[in-house]
Amino acid sequence: MVLEAIISRDLLVSLLEAARRKFPMEFFSLLGGEVEGENVYITEVIYVPWKEGYHHAIFDLNQIPPGVVGSFHSHPSVAKPSSADIRSFPYLGYVHLIASYPFGIENVRAFDTGGREVRIRIIEGKGQRASF
Ligand SMILES: [Zn+2]
Repeated sequence: MVLEAIISRDLLVSLLEAARRKFPMEFFSLLGGEVEGENVYITEVIYVPWKEGYHHAIFDLNQIPPGVVGSFHSHPSVAKPSSADIRSFPYLGYVHLIASYPFGIENVRAFDTGGREVRIRIIEGKGQRASF
C-alpha cells in the first residue's frame, strides 16, 4: 500500500513545465525511483517513446523499463484518473501523478494503482532537474 509520493520540487517543476508546453495535448512520462515501505521516492524521469493523443497518451506497455515506480501525466481539465488511467496504472508502478491546467504545484494530485488519492510530499534541496 502506498501512503505517500515523495518528489523534489525541481523535478516536479520540470514535469509541470513540460505539461504546460504540451497543453492542450497531454504530456506523459514514466517516473523512476525507489520504494521504501509505504513511501515512493521519485528521483528521475524515464523516457519511453510514446504516441500522443489529444486526450490520452498512448504507449506500448511492453516498453516499460525496470525501475519504474510510477507515472506522470497531464489532463487539460481535472486531475482525476479516468477509467483508462485506472486500467493502465497497475502496469506503470505504484504511484501516479496527474497534473491539471494551469499546471501549478497545487494542481498536481497523486493516486495509487487503484485510483485512490495518496499524499504528495515535496522536498526542497538538491533535486535533479529533468530536461525534455
Ligand atoms: Zn489521464
